[in-house]
Amino acid sequence: MKKAWMELVMAILLLAGVWQISKEGARFVSQRRAGQAVVILDAGHGGSDPGKIGVHGEKEKELNLQITLLLKKKLEKKDVFVILTRDSDEGLYESGSKNKKVQDLQNRVELIHEKKPDCVVSIHQNSYTSPEVKGAQVFYFTHSAEGKKLAEDLQTSLVEGVDPANHRMAKGNTSYYLLKKTDAPAAIVECGFLSNPQEAELLKSKDYQQKLADSICKGILEYIKPDKKSEKTGKTIT
Ligand SMILES: [Zn+2]
Repeated sequence: MKKAWMELVMAILLLAGVWQISKEGARFVSQRRAGQAVVILDAGHGGSDPGKIGVHGEKEKELNLQITLLLKKKLEKKDVFVILTRDSDEGLYESGSKNKKVQDLQNRVELIHEKKPDCVVSIHQNSYTSPEVKGAQVFYFTHSAEGKKLAEDLQTSLVEGVDPANHRMAKGNTSYYLLKKTDAPAAIVECGFLSNPQEAELLKSKDYQQKLADSICKGILEYIKPDKKSEKTGKTIT
């Protein structure tokens, strides 16, 4: 009887091992195919850095991650290979780091250099002293023509898909570290203002987050044009 129990325990342990190995294997399976577009999505802040805090106590880092994860799914459905800088509430720094914020940003930039994506989209939420200020706005590095194109595609898509009354335009910037230090076309999407009570409320809702993710997805696809990209590698039929 004892032997039978031991065999059962051994079998369970063996199965657990196989399951673990297949789980590891699955990670390697998700590799990029030749010709597949690669997009890095960067959920801003995380871990000890909450980002902006909303009028009702909303944490920017949480909303950034929620929208980023929705966006990832949508892009993958369109056959885009997505890499995330973070997929949980953790910053990209070591716990003993003297300057977590600097290390976090450096690691994000390093990942972008390493992966050489077609573009990078960083998701953030805005805040301002006047509570009436609202609306999504996209930023790019002033001296990057491709970054500008990407930001304009994103801004157009956000205005059309989320709020046609939003008259904000994509804006150049020379100081954002992530924009300045990356070679790949990059844009920062400030989805809305956490300092505006109505917008802060919307930004928390799943429906609005889906709408934002849909629009950002559309803007990215407009920029990378994955269909045309695969045409380039095949025979052109015109
Ligand atoms: Zn932010």
